Amino acid sequence: MQYHQDGFRPGNPSLAEQVVPPRSRSNVDVLVVGSGPAGLTLAAQLTAFPGLSVRIVEQRPGPLQVGQADGIACRSMEMFQAFGFAEKVSKEAYWVNETVFWRPDAATGRLARADRIQDVEDDLSEMPHVILSQARVHDFYLEVMAQSTHRLVPDYGCQLIDVKRTGDVEYPVMATLRRSDSTADTPTDDTPEVVHARYIVGCDGARSTVRRALGYRLEGEAARQLWGVMDVLAVTDFPDVRLKAAIQSADHGSLLIIPREGGFMVRMYIELDELDDGERAGDRGVTPETLIAKATAILSPYTLDVKEVAWWSAYEIGQRLSDRFDDVSSDISSDISGDDGDGERSGRTPRIFIAGDACHTHSPKAGQGMNVGMADAFNLGWKLASVIEGRSRPALLHTYTEERHAKAKELIDFDKVISSLFSAKPTSSQEAEQFQQYFQKQARYTAGVETRYEPSMITGGVATQHLSSGLVVGMRFHSAPVIRLADAKPMQLGHVLEADGRWRIIVFAPAGDRGQAGGAVAQLCSFLADDPAGPIRRYTPDGVDVDDVIDVRAVFQGSHRDMDLGLLPPLLTPTKGRLGVIDYQKSFCPDVRNGPDIFDQRGIDRDAGAVIVVRPDQYIADVLSITDRAALAERFDQLMIEPVTRSG
Ligand code: FAD
Repeated sequence: MQYHQDGFRPGNPSLAEQVVPPRSRSNVDVLVVGSGPAGLTLAAQLTAFPGLSVRIVEQRPGPLQVGQADGIACRSMEMFQAFGFAEKVSKEAYWVNETVFWRPDAATGRLARADRIQDVEDDLSEMPHVILSQARVHDFYLEVMAQSTHRLVPDYGCQLIDVKRTGDVEYPVMATLRRSDSTADTPTDDTPEVVHARYIVGCDGARSTVRRALGYRLEGEAARQLWGVMDVLAVTDFPDVRLKAAIQSADHGSLLIIPREGGFMVRMYIELDELDDGERAGDRGVTPETLIAKATAILSPYTLDVKEVAWWSAYEIGQRLSDRFDDVSSDISSDISGDDGDGERSGRTPRIFIAGDACHTHSPKAGQGMNVGMADAFNLGWKLASVIEGRSRPALLHTYTEERHAKAKELIDFDKVISSLFSAKPTSSQEAEQFQQYFQKQARYTAGVETRYEPSMITGGVATQHLSSGLVVGMRFHSAPVIRLADAKPMQLGHVLEADGRWRIIVFAPAGDRGQAGGAVAQLCSFLADDPAGPIRRYTPDGVDVDDVIDVRAVFQGSHRDMDLGLLPPLLTPTKGRLGVIDYQKSFCPDVRNGPDIFDQRGIDRDAGAVIVVRPDQYIADVLSITDRAALAERFDQLMIEPVTRSG
């Protein structure tokens, strides 16, 4: 974390000093509907941009207190790191280190542990797979928003009732809101409020009003599978109650045990019956007693004495997907490929989006709902901000649906397989093992690190992928340990990728290059910052820091003790802020204390070096040769708009 750049200030450095002046509440850049994980990720991302006006409305009377999702994938933790609260989550959460599989023993028929496996493979991520209440995740996002220059707080008790596009040029979307917190004791004014927005994003859950206003439906298998879930404090002689446990009984169905944060509580997912056509979860009269009885039967002969039910729910679930995630993309593939380059496609810039459960739902078995919704929002947030701020072409917005629809489709397909394997009554040990093998094989997928975006205006090709076999175009930047050059701090390189909307160029120096004048790194830096065709010179406006739009970092091959800071090019020791102080945090060296260094870990060509271009959402746009300036310039030329007043 860096602070004091513009002068010493006492107190909490996370609390932004400048507060943006109050703006109109009825004319906003972005209206976010819903404060679930998707809405809060989006709102938190947008508050990184002081120039935007953002409003978030939530029909509930206040923040979520209990329940709903709890599984946080490694990839989501990487994203939380970018928002600055991964450590808080790590500290509070349960860590899923090992998973056990239980099924009836072939010889005795008695429930027995069939296997015990490592949950997250080594070096899959620097982050753990954890369990923490969705409500706490919400709290951390709310804190980020409240501490930002916006001091943003959701408008609770405020329900969106309609949304439509108008012909207005500046604020083409009109939303109608009304108070939803009226009670007999405290009646509220129910006069509808109209908000005009440049963009609106429906993060309003599976029964999304925004989606319905667009006339879209979630298509797929009807939500007929009934699930029971309960968070309990219980006494049991089942030995693996503090491990994630998938239990398939002989005659009573399946149970998933998820130990909860705090060391005592556990969550039990219990598969109940299929609902009949038109039947709702509430119609079955499920009670906590029903769930306890079912869980006890599955766990038998082990005992389960439930002392307290902290939260429970019975809900229907199905794998369903909206075929459109915005108000423009009718046929995703043809619409995107038919782009004319200026993004307007005959005036068809998307203005209304949906994210999270509003566009896809799936079973809780793979623990994806909250994670995928947050990933949708992280994908969209920086794009909206850079288009609204005039830094990127509106065509960028089409990549949201293009990228996230494809990933949602993959998830639905995956979920169908894992759900059917989980629900199947194992009739043979091979079938039971099949479930376990699939579960293990897909661990990378459920960790969220397998996402790979296809080539587009923000994701390049793989012609020079060989320069870095472990940092893959289209995939998230896979962190590795480094030593920060100036202060010898051991750290994760990926942790410089903050959720601040900046692009990053990470230069891996060829062998022997220490940043000295005339070397490949120095020449590249000079091109980036000084050449009129260089993207930093070209796309950085006057009056801001040189790293405000594109942030350059370098990793050298030698020991940090052998490096000379004074030899580095100015772009790697830039002067910044009101006082012109030096930023010393741009350069890194390998950390060789614990095995292979970052060059070996990530397969970087030591002789040639490599340039990794990283998007603001931490995905790799390009792997390029350090000498290929044309390709580097083209990456930004495709996307960015030159500022009216340009740096240099
Ligand atoms: P949501 O979390 O649903 O958030 C949508 C928000 O929008 C809500 O706060 C809602 O009040 C608000 N909203 C809706 N309509 C409007 C409107 N018109 N105006 C203003 N605000 C509006 N997943 C699991 O993995 N495990 C579980 O055990 C589990 N249990 C669940 C139990 C319930 C009751 C529900 C609803 C979901 C559960 N899920 C569970 C799913 C998981 O919570 C979701 O996948 C995840 O929350 C999706 O995030 P989201 O932000 O897209 O939507």
